[in-house]
Amino acid sequence: MRCPFCGSLETQVKDSRPAGDGSAIRRRRVCPDCGGRFTTFERVQLRELMVLKKSGRRVPFDRDKLMRSLEIALRKRPIEPDRLERMVNGIVRQLESQGESEIASGKIGELVMEGLRALDSVAYVRFASVYRNFREARDFNALVDELAHESGEIPEDELTPPPVKTSPPGRL
Ligand SMILES: [Zn+2]
Repeated sequence: MRCPFCGSLETQVKDSRPAGDGSAIRRRRVCPDCGGRFTTFERVQLRELMVLKKSGRRVPFDRDKLMRSLEIALRKRPIEPDRLERMVNGIVRQLESQGESEIASGKIGELVMEGLRALDSVAYVRFASVYRNFREARDFNALVDELAHESGEIPEDELTPPPVKTSPPGRL
C-alpha cells in the first residue's frame, strides 16, 4: 500500500483488527520513509461487476442507482426499507454468483422484475409498464429517469398487468 504522504511503497502494517460487525478489517500502517501513519479498511468484494449497455458501452455496476430506481417504483407503497435492502442484496448476490464479470443491462432488469413481483404487485406493474417500453431500444439508466417521471402520476386503478407473452400461432 503506497504511503499517501510521500508515495513510498514500503509501508508496514502495525496491527490488523476486525471493524464494524466483522465484515471489514482495519489495518494501521506506518511509513518507514516519512513516519506517516494511516489506516486502511479491507472489505469483501466477491466480484467487480461491469454492466454491458445496449450501446456496447461498459460501466461499473452501481448499487445506489439500482436502489434509487426501486425506491421510486415503491414510492408510497407499504414496504419496509429492510425488505427493499434485502431484495437489493439478493439481486447483487445473484449477479455476483453468475460467474460472469460482465452483465447485460437487460439481465438486471429481469432480476428486478422477479424481485418486485414477489415484493409488491403495484410496484411491479409500475416498473414493468415503463421497463417494457425501454428494453428494446434503451438502457436501464434511461429507465430510472422515466420512472421518476411516471411514478405518482398514474392512479393505481389505471394500472394493468403487463400482457402475457403468447407464442406465435402455428401453421395449419
Ligand atoms: Zn511516507
